[in-house]
Amino acid sequence: MTRTTLGDGQPYGVAGGEVPRAMKITSAMIALVLVGPVAVGQGDVAPVSLALRGDPAQDLDLGATHIAPMPTRSTANGPIDSAPYYCMRAIEDGDQVIPEGALKRPRRMIGEATDKVMPWLARLDPKIRPSIIWTRNWTIVSLLKGARVADLTPEEAVRLRAFFPEITPRSNKLTGHQRAHLWAIRTLRIQGAIKEVMDLDDNGGLKPSSFSAGYRPLAHKGCELFLFSNPSPHAAFTRHLFQPQTRGLSGETLGSGPVAAIMLDDAPTGSIRRRMRHASTLQLVRVHRRLEGGLPAWMQIGLAHYFEWRQTKTTRTKKNTAGTLIGATEGLRDWDQAVRDLVASGRAGELGALSATPERGLTLQSRLQAWSLVKYLLGVDQGRFTQLCSALLHTRPGVNPQQALRTAMKATYGHETDAVADGWKTWVLRGSKKK
Ligand SMILES: [Zn+2]
Repeated sequence: MTRTTLGDGQPYGVAGGEVPRAMKITSAMIALVLVGPVAVGQGDVAPVSLALRGDPAQDLDLGATHIAPMPTRSTANGPIDSAPYYCMRAIEDGDQVIPEGALKRPRRMIGEATDKVMPWLARLDPKIRPSIIWTRNWTIVSLLKGARVADLTPEEAVRLRAFFPEITPRSNKLTGHQRAHLWAIRTLRIQGAIKEVMDLDDNGGLKPSSFSAGYRPLAHKGCELFLFSNPSPHAAFTRHLFQPQTRGLSGETLGSGPVAAIMLDDAPTGSIRRRMRHASTLQLVRVHRRLEGGLPAWMQIGLAHYFEWRQTKTTRTKKNTAGTLIGATEGLRDWDQAVRDLVASGRAGELGALSATPERGLTLQSRLQAWSLVKYLLGVDQGRFTQLCSALLHTRPGVNPQQALRTAMKATYGHETDAVADGWKTWVLRGSKKK
């Protein structure tokens, strides 16, 4: 009943908004008769029910990511001629061929021409030969050393074997080069999950939106993930490229797109998986908008935390070793409880103010709130969340972020931001009663 589309019948379009006055009155009258008082005007959509029960993240299909195509060889010992990504080392060694029309290699990295960057990279960790793997949407530069890998799945082993025939499902030690491929496979999965939530096209780009007629945001070419085993090259990299106030996994947007530097060998396996999911989500989401505006920082961070936990049943940790939650102390062990405490004490931030806060200004509390809000919005209606992301990304630059969120929320969820915030608080507090 509440899903009935009123007015001019546009699903959530505010592009036109030229509803004749007489028609508005008629719609309003129909609305009163059918579903009670519903405000009708520009861009109105049927409001979604804001009541949510349970934790949507607990019901996720943990395997529900688009499987990327398998790499295949032209003959048993021939080169790989079909793979969802390209590896510079495999190409140099004649082990992989790039099909016609595919991206030969990233032209730019860290904002510079690749040819200029390569010698610098080779010097960064002299003991490790960098592995560079790319797709149309991302580049992984790996300075990883060989290590024990405790969580290799049989499916990952099969995929790796196309490049490295010596790998078996029981392999538990991989070379640095092989680990780079493993993270490429996992990044493809994360990308598939983001593609689903943001309803991206087959090239990983935004689909056109009816939200802001005629405006298409300029996207970055792609993002870059730099993976490190050793702390000193990691420190040298971040010192050289990032501003001192850049914290944790946020990275920075350089001339070639969003860049993150990620340490992989200083924490337990589970923490590292979370860290990679967090960092890669953040950069993959940031790719879609080059100019200011778009998704507010809290939504980017919220999405990164959401995907970080997506394949993990619990949000409790013994120790905060993943390092994804900036400002968290060892004492913070249960994220859900921390959010309940935040709401119960009335210290949750107002959504408008939150939307105007840049990433660097987000406190520990705002980050927790962002994670919970994204989970809630997705749980209420994933389709509308997708539309909300699209609407925000298609908002013209220069619109006040608070106003941008209000307009986009109204056009997708059919509610004022305050009502959504109240719905979220009710949901969070209801969760605490179950305990
Ligand atoms: Zn390779």
